[in-house]
Amino acid sequence: MSLEKIKTALSTVKYPGFSRDIVSFGIVRNVEFENGTAKVSVAVTTSDAAIPPAIRDAIEEKLKALPEVSDVDVSVVVTANKKASTQQASAPTEGIPGVKHVIAVASGKGGVGKSTFAVNLACAFAELLRPEGKHAGIMDCDIYGPSVPLMLGLSGRPYVEGDSLLPMEGHGLKVMSMGFLVDEDTPVVWRGPMVMKTIQQFSQNVKWGDVEVLVVDLPPGTGDAHLSLVQTIPLSGAVLVTTPQIAATTVARRGARMLEKTNVSILGVAENMSYLEGPDGSRVNIFGEGGGEQTAKDLKAPLLGQIPLDQAIREGGDQGKPIVLGQPDGKTAEVFKSIAQNILTRLSN
Ligand code: ADP
Repeated sequence: MSLEKIKTALSTVKYPGFSRDIVSFGIVRNVEFENGTAKVSVAVTTSDAAIPPAIRDAIEEKLKALPEVSDVDVSVVVTANKKASTQQASAPTEGIPGVKHVIAVASGKGGVGKSTFAVNLACAFAELLRPEGKHAGIMDCDIYGPSVPLMLGLSGRPYVEGDSLLPMEGHGLKVMSMGFLVDEDTPVVWRGPMVMKTIQQFSQNVKWGDVEVLVVDLPPGTGDAHLSLVQTIPLSGAVLVTTPQIAATTVARRGARMLEKTNVSILGVAENMSYLEGPDGSRVNIFGEGGGEQTAKDLKAPLLGQIPLDQAIREGGDQGKPIVLGQPDGKTAEVFKSIAQNILTRLSN
């Protein structure tokens, strides 16, 4: 009987109230198997007394169903976290030292251009803030596909100073990403448990220095990362990225639901890949139209802007020079800058 088999069974146990399993939630601390007994230790942060026994029962049920397991010994350590409970997210009051505003960028699913948007938005903030001598940063929490380093042309490992990591710097942006810390070949299954820890460490153990606006690129969808984030850092708000298909609005709303539940204000919706513009200025709606507007309406938030489908956006991403910097006077850069300006104005109010 391999430990892998037990871990696989554990990864079918859902955290109560969530669609996410306890392994990817990062709460399984240790697994042992000896003489037919499976020993599992779990650490949860919750103020809901019903959660620990519910997790214990669910683990026992799953593991006892394995023919090789005759006995199950589950220990659940409950950590009292003053800042948060896992079921009812209460807004943290302590921010990241030196960081004034934190803006989360979320999407209901992958592939909508969330990271591309987050990187260009951060660059637009940096451009707008530079004349005032202020800085922007980006925290890449998309551990399943940390593409921010590539999009900013950064590689290597961040310096460690005492107990802290120093953010990397690219195009004047302060950057921290799981991509700097994890080998590209690390299987996704091992990355799952890191979501919560990543967010906590990136907010507590990184010396960000003076940052006026920090953009956080969240993993797509599900909610656990969103929940960890809102429990760890006070957010100024979130931007939801979607595509123009009307069919995508349900998925986009799902992405926003956790943020809404935790009272994070949705600053607005950004529609990406909105249209393809021909040389004569005509527009083709390759991915349909109306999705951004509909999502914004559903969320009672403004539609912040529509970003065209633009080959230069993809090329800029691949070459490590975001379009906001590569073609600063182009129409696409203008859209990003107007979204950034809109957000800055609202933050200052
Ligand atoms: P996500 O973070 O939502 O998974 P990415 O930002 O990684 O998506 O984008 C997926 C791919 O689509 C990347 O290759 C990116 O360069 C490309 N892309 C994103 N937005 C656009 C756009 N507006 N025009 C052209 N290509 C885009």
